[in-house]
Amino acid sequence: MNYIPIVIIILLIITLFVMFYLYCGFYFKDICNNLEYFYYGESTPTNKTILILGGIHGNEPAGSKAILQLMNDININKVKINNNRIIFVPYVNYCALRLNKRQVPFIGDLNRKFPITENYNEDDLNPIVKKIIIMMKQSDFIIDFHEGWGFYKEKTGSIGSTITPTNTDISNQLADLVYDNLNKSITEDYKKFTILVDETYNDKIKNNPDKYAKNEDIKYTLRYYANLTKENYILIETSGQNDIQDLDVRTSQARTIIDTVLNFYNTY
Ligand SMILES: [Zn+2]
Repeated sequence: MNYIPIVIIILLIITLFVMFYLYCGFYFKDICNNLEYFYYGESTPTNKTILILGGIHGNEPAGSKAILQLMNDININKVKINNNRIIFVPYVNYCALRLNKRQVPFIGDLNRKFPITENYNEDDLNPIVKKIIIMMKQSDFIIDFHEGWGFYKEKTGSIGSTITPTNTDISNQLADLVYDNLNKSITEDYKKFTILVDETYNDKIKNNPDKYAKNEDIKYTLRYYANLTKENYILIETSGQNDIQDLDVRTSQARTIIDTVLNFYNTY
């Protein structure tokens, strides 16, 4: 039997498949790396800039929802920005959010793509990461919204319902304020938020183990980079994924966090 025609057909099918895959990837990357952001308020010598990031992971939508809700409130004059400038980024990972997946092919996990040193090559950065770093450099405070799959206080290994500041005074001060404002509306103890801190703040954990716990730092994350560059920043993890709590509850928590930070800077 002559196998040559069969082999040729198989090779042809493989070649067509690879070409189709590369073709899709090209367009996928083009669409998914297109970051939308919205500037509200003016940049003046006295105004602060607050950067609010939602949905760096696509299956963690509460931050995005809260950002869109506030943008709408400003657009219909329900909320007025009197001071400061806000940069809203509702969909950091747009394609992943649309698909409700942590990450999508060709783009990968955006929260594992940040530099771990200040001497990095800009050309090596993912285009979204590159744009976010530019916005970070313009900002006085950054809120980074995520959602965990459980409740931290249940000790199942999830960091849902935690606040992680970078090691600056303002980050720590705002983490405390956010903690107070969130927890006063939560009745069940296991659902209450905990503040995760680095080793520098071991005393806080010793003196108040219910409020503070140890942060397990992860390299290549936005938090790691923000801490490295001494940005004022908080990482928020609501609970969370797979609708473990109603999305309205998590969105309202995210809104409380945004309002706490914006009120701290006398924005409204
Ligand atoms: Zn996340």
